[in-house]
Amino acid sequence: MPNFTLADSVFEGAAAAFPTPFHLYDEKGIRENARALNKAFSWCKDFQEYFAVKALPNPAILRILKEEGCGLDCSSETELQLAEACGFSGRDIMFSANAMPYEEFTHARALGAFVNLDDITHIDILRDHGGIPETVCCRYNPGGDFTISGSIMGNPGDSKYGFTHAQLEEGLTRLQALGAKKFGLHAFLSSNTINVEYYPTLARILFQVGKEMAEKTGLKLAFINLSGGVGIPYRPEQEKTDIQAVGEGVRKAYEEIFPEGGVAIKTELGRWMTGPIGWLVTRAIHKKDTYKHYIGVDACCANLMRPAMYGAYHHITVCGKENLPHDHLYDVVGCLCENNDKFAIDRMLPEIVNGDLIVIHDSGAHGHAMGYNYNGRLRSAEVLRQADGSFRLIRRAETAQDYFATLDIDVGANDLGLNK
Ligand SMILES: *Cc1c(COP(=O)(O)O)cnc(C)c1O
Repeated sequence: MPNFTLADSVFEGAAAAFPTPFHLYDEKGIRENARALNKAFSWCKDFQEYFAVKALPNPAILRILKEEGCGLDCSSETELQLAEACGFSGRDIMFSANAMPYEEFTHARALGAFVNLDDITHIDILRDHGGIPETVCCRYNPGGDFTISGSIMGNPGDSKYGFTHAQLEEGLTRLQALGAKKFGLHAFLSSNTINVEYYPTLARILFQVGKEMAEKTGLKLAFINLSGGVGIPYRPEQEKTDIQAVGEGVRKAYEEIFPEGGVAIKTELGRWMTGPIGWLVTRAIHKKDTYKHYIGVDACCANLMRPAMYGAYHHITVCGKENLPHDHLYDVVGCLCENNDKFAIDRMLPEIVNGDLIVIHDSGAHGHAMGYNYNGRLRSAEVLRQADGSFRLIRRAETAQDYFATLDIDVGANDLGLNK
């Protein structure tokens, strides 16, 4: 089930201090998750989590994760800049390549980051933009379907990422000829998977292919990068992934395939680390009864895209009303001129009146970060509930000035109240 560790009074306290809507993050929960992950993999010397920056790119959060021993997984120039500004460098950064501008490889190499190549053509691009490092990582795509105990969990064959098996052998051979000595192997085969067998199954595939490639190419296998993908229980009936069991499952595969050890493990969890420790706090401001019953809130899908984009479920609670009967069927909607701007469709909730404080759960990963400015809507603030219970604004809400900052027009600043 979603994370219910914060009492309604916490959301009410935050909403008294900051105008809605905003995302609230819980420092204590972030630290607990980082510690649980590190503990689950403590059997592996050189284990490191590289938090996927795209999930929650806020310096206050990244610095907390740094204190907990995490590195960062970056996939763009600005994410590299953010990492650098937060004091990450060298081996604490994983740069996951994609169809990106070539200069980004140069920047990643200048920071000393590990570079994770996505394609065989990236080898020459890296050679010409930053150079081939001693240790280089490659992203593997086994193709076909990815199954766990007979159920299809993902379709790598349809995914744009990674080298084929044949390309991996050819590419690693070429990397060796260009001076690489060691390699890492990475794959992301299934997203938001709460099945505890995901990482162990993926690990077994990567351990075997890594071992095979080391034997075929003579390069040393330095690390296996299990990437992201471990899921969270967005729905009340789902269970939290037992991360300790996940770590033990990976350990079992490791001990079978690498009895002498010597291979490090890396992860790039985003959602699992911060998803459940974030909440979008919003207020009911409209009630509309037509063919259906609508509650209009002051947030919209510019603040949390997942329901509109993926039809994703996000649990909703109404502060102070959780013990009342959930006997009203509502669509909870935002203000975009876009009919899929709905946080919930046909959801049973307690009766809502204008002014009620509504909490949309599990917004801590791929939430604020995915926001956009469609319809001229502005991104909300982000607030951290610090370990001592106090609130800190860690990103202010956007203003109209931010919206107009990239334009060169006279927007009548005085009339708009921009100069206030
Ligand atoms: C998005 C992404 C992640 C994080 O995924 P989660 O589902 O948030 O765990 C990790 N690694 C790479 C390369 C990614 O693109």
